[in-house]
Amino acid sequence: MANQLSSSHVRVVLRVRPFLPSEISPASNQKISQIPCISILDQQIAGEVAVRLKDQFSSRNECYKLDSFFDQEGRVAHIFEQEVSVLIPGIFQGMNATVFAYGATGSGKTYTMQGTDAEPGIIPLVMSAIFSMCENTKYSVQMSYYEVYLDRCYDLLEPKVKEVMALDDKDGKVQLKGLSWASVKSMDEFLQTYTIGVQRRKVAHTGLNDVSSRSHAILSVAVSNGSSKGKLNLIDLAGNEDNRRTQNEGIRMQESAKINESLFALSNVIYALNNRRSYIPYRESKLTRILQDSLGGTSRALMVACLNPMSYQEAVHTVNLAARSR
Ligand code: ADP
Ligand code: MG
Repeated sequence: MANQLSSSHVRVVLRVRPFLPSEISPASNQKISQIPCISILDQQIAGEVAVRLKDQFSSRNECYKLDSFFDQEGRVAHIFEQEVSVLIPGIFQGMNATVFAYGATGSGKTYTMQGTDAEPGIIPLVMSAIFSMCENTKYSVQMSYYEVYLDRCYDLLEPKVKEVMALDDKDGKVQLKGLSWASVKSMDEFLQTYTIGVQRRKVAHTGLNDVSSRSHAILSVAVSNGSSKGKLNLIDLAGNEDNRRTQNEGIRMQESAKINESLFALSNVIYALNNRRSYIPYRESKLTRILQDSLGGTSRALMVACLNPMSYQEAVHTVNLAARSR
C-alpha cells in the first residue's frame, strides 16, 4: 500500500463531509437527491486516487489526483485505521509525526480532529491508542496545546492564556520558550486538560469574532521512556479563504493574509518534501518554522483536506492547494 512510502513523504487525502440537515432542501427533503460537488473517478490507480469536482450549477469541472479519498459515508474511525494509526508506533521509537486538518471554515476540520461524543475524532482515537500502548511500560505522555494566531503563539494550558516566543536555538531549530507541558496518565486526565484548553481558546480573544476558526490549533503529544522521546502534532488549521471572493477589511484582511501566507508556506514545504528537493522552505512562516522538527527527516505526516459538499468554488480552492502539495 502507498502507506509504506518513505518516511518524509507527506500523504494528502481528501474527506468530504455529509450534507447537514440544514443543507437538505425542503423540496427534495431526501439526502439521496442531493449531489455533492465532488465524486471519485478512479480508485487507487498506482496508489493514488483521481477525483472530479463538479459545479452543481454549471458544466464547470476539474480533476485532481490525491493519495486517498473518503466520501460522505466515510467515518473518522476509517480514516484513523487507514491513515493515522500507522504513524503511532514510530512515536514510541522516538520519531515525530504530524496530522493536519485543512480546509475552509465549515468543511469539517474540527469534526474530523476533535469529533463528538457520538463520533470521536482523530485526537481522541489517537490518544486512546497511545494510552493503551503505554500500559505496563515505562512510557509516559506529556501534552502541550497552543494556537498560532496572526503569527503569534498562545499557550492554551496556562490559566491566563499567554504568548510564547518562538526562538531559534544554537542549531537553528525553533523552540517555544516557556510553553507548558502537562503530564497526562490516562484518557480521563487528557480529556480534562484538553477540554479546558479548548474552552480557553474560545474566550482568549474576546471582542474578536470567531478567532477559533482563524487560528491554527496545535496539540502536541510527547511520548518518552527515558531513552527516547517522540512527538505527534495534531493540528486543526485555520480555515483557508479565497481572497478573490471574500471582501475582507481591517483585522479580517490581516488575519486572512496571514492565514493564506502560512497555508501556502505549508504547502510549499510539503511539496518540497514530496519532491525530494534539497532545500525545504521551513522559514517562510511561523507555522512551518515551529513544525520543522515534525515535518521531513524521519518524521511522517498526513494532511486531511476537508470539503463542504455544497461549495464547488471553495472545494476548487482547497483541492488546488492540497493537490499541488503532493
Ligand atoms: P470547520 O472546523 O472546518 O469549520 P466543523 O468541523 O465545525 O468545520 O463542521 C461544520 C459543521 O458540519 C458542524 O456542524 C459539524 O458538526 C458538521 N460536520 C462536519 N463533518 C461532519 C461529519 N463527518 N458528519 C456529520 N457532521 C459533520
Ligand atoms: Mg473548526
